[in-house]
Amino acid sequence: MSSPVRLFASYHLWSLVAPASGQQRLHCQMRRGFIKARQDEPKVKALLKGKVTASQRIGLLAQKGVYEFHHNRNLLNSVDGVEKVARLLKLGNLADEIQQRVRQILQKYQNAPLLLNKRIMLLTRGDEGFPKPIVIEREDYRFRLYAAMDCVLNESENTLHIIDFKTGKSFFDRRQALVYLLAARYLYPRYQAIASFYNLEMGKKSHVITVSNSQLSLVEYHLGYIAEKHQKDLQKYRQNQKSFARIFPPNPGNHCRFCPFHSICDFSVYQDE
Ligand code: SF4
Repeated sequence: MSSPVRLFASYHLWSLVAPASGQQRLHCQMRRGFIKARQDEPKVKALLKGKVTASQRIGLLAQKGVYEFHHNRNLLNSVDGVEKVARLLKLGNLADEIQQRVRQILQKYQNAPLLLNKRIMLLTRGDEGFPKPIVIEREDYRFRLYAAMDCVLNESENTLHIIDFKTGKSFFDRRQALVYLLAARYLYPRYQAIASFYNLEMGKKSHVITVSNSQLSLVEYHLGYIAEKHQKDLQKYRQNQKSFARIFPPNPGNHCRFCPFHSICDFSVYQDE
């Protein structure tokens, strides 16, 4: 019997290991260290627990809202559909700013529902937790791939379209689409997959992302490398915790202000007033 696959990769890990293009200045390896190597320390744990920002909460509620609209189609056509979805989301218990922005998103979606009359193969609420991993085993690498898709549409007999919902100013990172396309190769092998992003708040679509099979194989190989590099970094840290800053080098700057760990990070240039 082969040994269990220890290494893992996901878009989140990829984004922690390497910056998106143009984001190098803001990227800090030490954040990965806090999130992935020191997450069980009480102080780090507390910061991670409280790190759900208003923007993240809005993103989650917006996705749940889309789910509710399509779970009960009457809501899309009903004059008080937005109000009903707002009640299902328990918006009334939340801060005014969050309520207001989510209501605007729901209204916008009801006015122009992206998924109306589409063949929906998968639509998640966004709070389902970790997806089931896809085990990838090749001669050179083995890892578990985690890819939580928001929505999958059946575009034609042999094409499916993966859509990732965004809100606020979050930018479209092509790497996220590449991870979904790779996952689709295993989850829906009968189909050709394409992917895109849709910002629910701005009503803005990205261009459609497609890649060849050989490009997808390179993505897979790269994720195998990331999974292994990350595992090695964790091992080094367990062997010598004093080397934290060497294994996960800091990159201080103005962005420390928005880093959840600035209060416990020795390198932060920002301190709470
Ligand atoms: S506070 Fe700054 S240096 Fe420290 S982990 Fe966060 S971004 Fe990196």
